Amino acid sequence: MKFGGTSVGSPEMIKKTAEIISGIDESKVVVVSAMSGITNLLIRAARKAEAGDKAYKDDFEEIVSKENFTMKSLFGKELPAVSDLLSLLENLLDSIYMLGELTNRALDAVQSFGERMNIHVVSEELKRHSIKSLPVEASKFLITNEEFGNAFPNFKLSKGRAGKLFSRYFKERITPVVTGFIGATPDGKITTLGRGGSDFSATIIGNLLDAREVWIWTDVDGVMSADPRIVKNARSLRNISYNEASELSYFGAKVIHPKALLPVIDKKIPVRILNTFNPSFSGTLITEREEGKGFVKAITRIKDISLINVNGKGMLGVPGIAARVFSAAAETHSNVLMISQSSSEQNICFAAKAEDAAKLILRLKKEFEEEMKEGVIESIGEEKKDAIVSAVGAGIKSFPGISGKVFSILGRNGINVSAIAQGSSEYNVSFVVKERLSEKAMNVLHTELGLDNSDFKGRKIVNLFQFGVGSVGSALYRLIEEKKADIEKKSGVRIQYVGIARSSGY
Ligand code: ASP
Ligand code: MG
Repeated sequence: MKFGGTSVGSPEMIKKTAEIISGIDESKVVVVSAMSGITNLLIRAARKAEAGDKAYKDDFEEIVSKENFTMKSLFGKELPAVSDLLSLLENLLDSIYMLGELTNRALDAVQSFGERMNIHVVSEELKRHSIKSLPVEASKFLITNEEFGNAFPNFKLSKGRAGKLFSRYFKERITPVVTGFIGATPDGKITTLGRGGSDFSATIIGNLLDAREVWIWTDVDGVMSADPRIVKNARSLRNISYNEASELSYFGAKVIHPKALLPVIDKKIPVRILNTFNPSFSGTLITEREEGKGFVKAITRIKDISLINVNGKGMLGVPGIAARVFSAAAETHSNVLMISQSSSEQNICFAAKAEDAAKLILRLKKEFEEEMKEGVIESIGEEKKDAIVSAVGAGIKSFPGISGKVFSILGRNGINVSAIAQGSSEYNVSFVVKERLSEKAMNVLHTELGLDNSDFKGRKIVNLFQFGVGSVGSALYRLIEEKKADIEKKSGVRIQYVGIARSSGY
């Protein structure tokens, strides 16, 4: 069971988490993130120290007071193990300040402290709930490569070590509380698995121990059909497949770390997403099972997108241009999120994060300097303030007509699409629209593709705005209200009044 930063982000939440754990009888491993906000503070302190900015001390003090406050509230005292870690951290930050240098290795060492402190706090709280528990640093068994900041596990090396360690704990009925996010190289240097990597830790450990299930405790009701802040009628999904979950996390839904499903797919270990703030909710179960033929399950969005265009009639039939476009893009270390080439071969466009756009265009202009002089390529430009919206679902696969449905819904609602891509995995249909239209796009797709909870699932909505409420107008209004249910039943549409106006107001 992994508990994310908000689930262990305050004394109250740590208590709640301990209660949840104490209610589960089976052998279990608890994986914890740092308290929410701590990892950011650690990184900020390290960067300031590197830059010679003495204010790293302020960030350090903020960490100290947050940790101490938590321990005092829970236990009435500070835990010596945490105090020791804090002074180690202070020394490390002082050294970075003195050297004026921060290597990736040192940054990982600094980042590791949030999780390393938190295992002591959570484990101590478990003991107060009469659970035998021990704090465990994952660097003891989770062996990774040397890619600091984005390390990848070595399952073979880790398995032997984990087996020995945990079988003893289970025999003695001890619940280990393990650091998420971190591992170590074979010779013991601390590494991190990338931001948000505690999910990944949990599934790695699930793999190493052949767990029955991996439970990810977070702060929302599992995986939802859309971001509920944007789509009011979004609902929790009960079951999704590994592929759908990966696609969703790639396309902007913050449910699970994109890499976190890798360790469990082969072994078919189910992953459950649960809500610490609503523990009775049964959660979203992620398994290999794919269901819902012909259905879209969720709508996601990535904001702050630029659409980069390479245009030119001369490109027609000239081989290798696309390859050069994308190798140039790769050289700038930009992430290309979506690609589309018009079949007329006169335009290649791709979506990238807006923050990468300027350097991409500069690099492309340099790459195609010759071609631009010769007129083979006419322009290289950017369409700003776009968003990628994706409809995701395993049911899209080999089911005809879903893209057609998606784009006719958008067309009918007056939403212009600037680029389209369908992944060859066929788990998604993605397109680029203006960012300001993206929320509308999400909402109309969500409703008309039948993702809503309402009785009107999948029906077209007719929005009525009535001008004039004199005797004719009010009679019409009454008539519509009276017949609405009937009309809706017969025609399959949903009718809703969105406004009424007259000369004096609306
Ligand atoms: N504490 C780490 C982070 O904030 C890992 C995690 O929360 O999963 O990125
Ligand atoms: Mg986190």
